[in-house]
Amino acid sequence: MSDFASARGDITVEELLAAQEGGGFQIEPLTESPNVPGSVDPSPLPPEFGATILHEPCSSCGDIGENWVCLKTRKTYCSRYRKGCAVKHFEANPASHCIHLSLSDLSVWDHNLDAYLDVFNIPALQPAFAAVHLAKFGEPASFPTPSSSFTINLSETNDDDEEKPAAAAAKGT
Ligand SMILES: [Zn+2]
Ligand SMILES: [Zn+2]
Repeated sequence: MSDFASARGDITVEELLAAQEGGGFQIEPLTESPNVPGSVDPSPLPPEFGATILHEPCSSCGDIGENWVCLKTRKTYCSRYRKGCAVKHFEANPASHCIHLSLSDLSVWDHNLDAYLDVFNIPALQPAFAAVHLAKFGEPASFPTPSSSFTINLSETNDDDEEKPAAAAAKGT
């Protein structure tokens, strides 16, 4: 604390602005949630899910502003900045309807943990995220594929193996 106080005199306006913009309030999304099996419907999404849900009004009050999708019911509920139907929906079913996907910025909020969830690390969230992403941006979401470099190495090894017999056969004829 004393270090911070003594360093304050040297802080620039740029540093202060940067801290206010992101550094001071940056929130890391959680990479796991105990509510993920219970609050997410695992059944396959209908093919038209993304396109239809994007334009769905709040299923409670009909508001068309900033809606969230409950990943359990797959219905839309408006944000706390509209009429607050998403919060009410969670409060009515706190154990199993606490994970909602924003149709505005595709963030995923866990009402039980009061935290954002990291879609890239939680596969159960990805089908709904990908469907809305495709409908909203017209291109598929890309998730990290840790095994892709391994696949490339494998195919290189196979190429080497194929060349040797071919060269030997050429010599023989
Ligand atoms: Zn509403
Ligand atoms: Zn729900």
